[in-house]
Amino acid sequence: MIPCNLCGSSDAEQIRSKDRHGGFLRSVICRRCGLVWTDPRPTPDAMRTFYARDYRLDYKRAYQPKPRHIYRAGKVAVYRFLRIQPLLRPGFRVFDLGAGGGEVVYVLRAMGYAASGVEPSEGYARYAADRLDVPVTQGFWQDAGVAPASQDLVTMFHTMEHLEDPLGALRRASQWLTPQGLLFIEVPNVEATYNQPHQQFHRGHLYHFNMATLQTMGRRAGYAAIGESRSSDGGIISVVFQKTDATPPPSGEIVGNYEQVASILRRHTTASHVFSRYPYVRPFQKLKAWVEEQRNARLHQSPTAVLDGLIETLLVVGR
Ligand SMILES: [Zn+2]
Repeated sequence: MIPCNLCGSSDAEQIRSKDRHGGFLRSVICRRCGLVWTDPRPTPDAMRTFYARDYRLDYKRAYQPKPRHIYRAGKVAVYRFLRIQPLLRPGFRVFDLGAGGGEVVYVLRAMGYAASGVEPSEGYARYAADRLDVPVTQGFWQDAGVAPASQDLVTMFHTMEHLEDPLGALRRASQWLTPQGLLFIEVPNVEATYNQPHQQFHRGHLYHFNMATLQTMGRRAGYAAIGESRSSDGGIISVVFQKTDATPPPSGEIVGNYEQVASILRRHTTASHVFSRYPYVRPFQKLKAWVEEQRNARLHQSPTAVLDGLIETLLVVGR
């Protein structure tokens, strides 16, 4: 039994038993704070191998994404930049934890910021360093080697849900930040109901947050939550944290949150999903995006040319 990473309680109950492919994957919910996690999960060594090598791609093959994948990752990176742009000040040093192929770091640097990052996947980290020529190193947050108080902003885009010890990662990130430094976190919302019920539960996701558990975890790690937002479909939540000297709350207990999350997950069955409008809207949106990607991918050649084109179109021309 894995104790709750947020509040330390061992009072958790099973809420799911299958992953999105129908395989066995047991998820539990903490009755004291409402955090949801995978239990049992693979050993730390197996998890590390999974993220370094098996997750996303085989490390033995050089990562050579197709043009439409480059375009899609670039577009996501530009939109991520726009999400954090209001937080940025001239000369900001930004560290991207879980940097993927380095696209966000690339966009930040193109816009004049001193950005770097770390990425566990060997293939993605190598792609970032070799093809995008950005300072993204391969490794986990434990081995990131960031100098204390050297960063003004740490970003975690869809990273928290993959970590074995998200609370520990937030505490470590706090050491990297200057006093009053900022932390931006974006994760899937466990309360989202637009996916098939089993879709969000797969072996890549170790934790599932809602706004309450995400913000409480930040406070426990020594931050104040100074901003929050939800995507229009409710599927993604983000919080802006600021490092603070205030004493963290001694307990991660969140009154009423277990009841709220458990009731949403229990009501969100396959039957209820069939009668919602989302199954029909989502594939159509995906198709539209794919057609756009196909068209744009033909216009460019190298990964950096694709990214430069996106930056020019979405960030430079439009401002
Ligand atoms: Zn808990």
